[in-house]
Amino acid sequence: PPLYKQRYQFIKDLVGKYKPKKVADLGCADCTLLWMLKFCSCIEVLAGLDICASVMKEKMHRLSPLPVDYLQPAERCLTVTLHHGSVAHKDPCMLGFDLVTCIELIEHLEESELKKFPEVVFGFMAPGIVVISTPNSEFNPLLPGVTLFRHPDHKFEWNRVQFQSWALETARCYDYSVEFTGVGHPPTGMENVGFCTQIGVFIRKYPQTSESAQSEKPTEAVYKTVFKAVY
Ligand code: SAM
Repeated sequence: PPLYKQRYQFIKDLVGKYKPKKVADLGCADCTLLWMLKFCSCIEVLAGLDICASVMKEKMHRLSPLPVDYLQPAERCLTVTLHHGSVAHKDPCMLGFDLVTCIELIEHLEESELKKFPEVVFGFMAPGIVVISTPNSEFNPLLPGVTLFRHPDHKFEWNRVQFQSWALETARCYDYSVEFTGVGHPPTGMENVGFCTQIGVFIRKYPQTSESAQSEKPTEAVYKTVFKAVY
């Protein structure tokens, strides 16, 4: 399957393993991952965030309930919300999540945004699990036609040591553990370059109390809600 589908499948497998109730996808783009996740029966709250409102709105109506959802209401309740805003800014609507996914997001961040990202995601949102995926630049020589970066909007592409040092330092700073994996296997004989997409799975080491989830973090709402569906 294409690489993006392997990344989404990785998240679906993780949801199957940890059964999170509240999942947020940062940099959700056209909401394809959110749409896939709405079929996971453990999930009760799904939220998407993107800095580009138009790409989010393109196919967001896929997230609305279908007639069958009204005719055969499921046991669980599901709320899906889309927010317009930046991962460089804190908003209370992102508190209390079990899983936060950042798929092919960080390489699109400006230096100043990337600097704020750990404090917003790990310090403020502080979900039980964070998943971050990003290109592995060591794989690039195997991709036809890639000269500098895989996409013109990428601000950087990291090799494994670069990503892992950033991730380990972030994990240490915010009291998470992190494990590295990836999707997109290299061809036989080229295993030394690693996965095409590198992935860090961060697990929060400390338990979440309702205080640390909500009340001790008074913040003003800055994101704009662009979609909401209640099943
Ligand atoms: N996660 C999706 C996927 O895997 O298919 C889309 C990845 S796309 C390559 C990167 C997305 O990040 C874009 O939709 C872009 O608008 C969004 N983005 C870039 N900077 C952002 C920021 N500061 N805050 C939130 N989203 C941002």
